[in-house]
Amino acid sequence: MAKKLRLIVDMDGVLADVYEQFIQFEFRESGLLMKKSEVHGTDEILAFPNGNIHVHERGFFRTIPVISGATESLEKLNKAYEVFIVSSAMEFPNCLEEKYYWLKEHFPFLSWKQIVLCGSKEVVQGNIMIDDHFKNLDSFTGRTLLFDQPHNQNSNDHSHERVCNWDEIIQLLL
Ligand SMILES: [Mg+2]
Repeated sequence: MAKKLRLIVDMDGVLADVYEQFIQFEFRESGLLMKKSEVHGTDEILAFPNGNIHVHERGFFRTIPVISGATESLEKLNKAYEVFIVSSAMEFPNCLEEKYYWLKEHFPFLSWKQIVLCGSKEVVQGNIMIDDHFKNLDSFTGRTLLFDQPHNQNSNDHSHERVCNWDEIIQLLL
């Protein structure tokens, strides 16, 4: 049997709806209800007045809603590809444990060996990478899928394939 292709999947903005979480935490903190359409082109944390406080708050990463279709889609891809979840966790080290238990809850079919919580993603190698940040995709040598998010919408970088949801990813990869 041919060796499976290695698929690298990001968490925040690809599996985890981090914008929805920022919106909910901001509303709870300041009463300000922001819309995703208001934060186009701005980095997630900077787009919200208290974003930098909330990423350091216990429970922020543990309770993020799952992006629609992510669980079912990844379960299918996990059979066809050698999947690794690669997520930056060292900028906010408190999130490390929370991210692990979040994956365990929502993606129980993944083993701990498939979870790579790291610093820079520049060391990561594989055949396909799905990520919402150019900084991670630009240094990757394989095929790159840019997951559409408000912060990357004002940029027209055509070197990556833009995908808007998990149905589109399944159509491209299965
Ligand atoms: Mg991300």
